[in-house]
Amino acid sequence: MGKRATAFLFALILILGAGCAAETREAVAAQAIAQTPTQTVTQTDGRQTPTVTRTPAIVVDPYQPYTHEMMVSDAHELAQMYPQYLQIDSIGSSVERRDLTLIKMGSGEKKLLLVGAHHAREYISSTYLMNTIDKYLYAAARGEEFGGYDIDALLSAVTVYIVPMINPDGVNLVINGIDSVIGSEVVKSMLMVKSDFAEWKANINGVDLNRQYPCFWEEKASDIREPASELFKGYSSASEPEVIALMALCENNEFAIAVSFHTKGEIIYWADSGSMGNIPSAQRVADAVAKVSGYANVSPSKEPEVYGAGFENWFRQEYSRPGLLVELTPGDGTSTPHDNALFDDIVWEDAKYIAAVLMQQALQREE
Ligand SMILES: [Zn+2]
Repeated sequence: MGKRATAFLFALILILGAGCAAETREAVAAQAIAQTPTQTVTQTDGRQTPTVTRTPAIVVDPYQPYTHEMMVSDAHELAQMYPQYLQIDSIGSSVERRDLTLIKMGSGEKKLLLVGAHHAREYISSTYLMNTIDKYLYAAARGEEFGGYDIDALLSAVTVYIVPMINPDGVNLVINGIDSVIGSEVVKSMLMVKSDFAEWKANINGVDLNRQYPCFWEEKASDIREPASELFKGYSSASEPEVIALMALCENNEFAIAVSFHTKGEIIYWADSGSMGNIPSAQRVADAVAKVSGYANVSPSKEPEVYGAGFENWFRQEYSRPGLLVELTPGDGTSTPHDNALFDDIVWEDAKYIAAVLMQQALQREE
């Protein structure tokens, strides 16, 4: 054998060797994947596709100001971790084109709707909903109950539709300040009911989203007739993209119960004179939430100029099914957002079982 032939053979051995090494690496990787617990997910066309599941871990950090970016990022991480329970969707986008993220939790036939942060400075209600998903699924995926509730069983009977942050532009202004707003000059020219942008309540068009729904909107009292940090009900009802998107979601899904979460009060608004008597199960649902949280039921609202145009009022009127507004957290005599560091004390301790109880209530037969 000549020198060149020897060199060629040597090179060939090297290449083959490298090929073998590559094959071995692939084989090891394939084996590793095979050993990872897999689950199948049923696609819309009925196909079963295997999904590599990640070990359950706590995702949401509820102890710092909860931005839209954190919510979106947590939602996707949770969906990757729990594909058997979660689907991410969108109901549209805000004025500043932020995603109005919808998270569907569970696979049951009955549907329950939970909404957070109609009011910008009340964004701890978004933290609350995301923490609920995080803690419930952590327990369910490990085959554990959560406070005596069998979350896995409930989620096979109910699908919970969660819109954690319906007013992301307002939340952005409160947390990140006026310089983070696209139309900051316009916002600066709006009427400030409270002095600080950290106390902002409306959406970024200066419309209070919970005074916007077409339910006694004309009757709804409003001294403020221009875009403002709070209290302006808009030039017409359902003018804002966030409200239009949430109404469409309700139109397209038969929600057994809808609940909107706000802050400061530890009370439950559950009835108004416009729909009293049309919703036999309203009291039962409100009582169940009151019992598990320690919050107080408010006596039915009587005057449309006071209660009109709220999301929950519109939902009751439109569908004759229970619509609640739950004020999480104790009042503290200020309009500033709560310090998320206090999350366990002021929110979670009382409110952690509310979603489980609402799932149970959604499954009860209508009287
Ligand atoms: Zn509010």
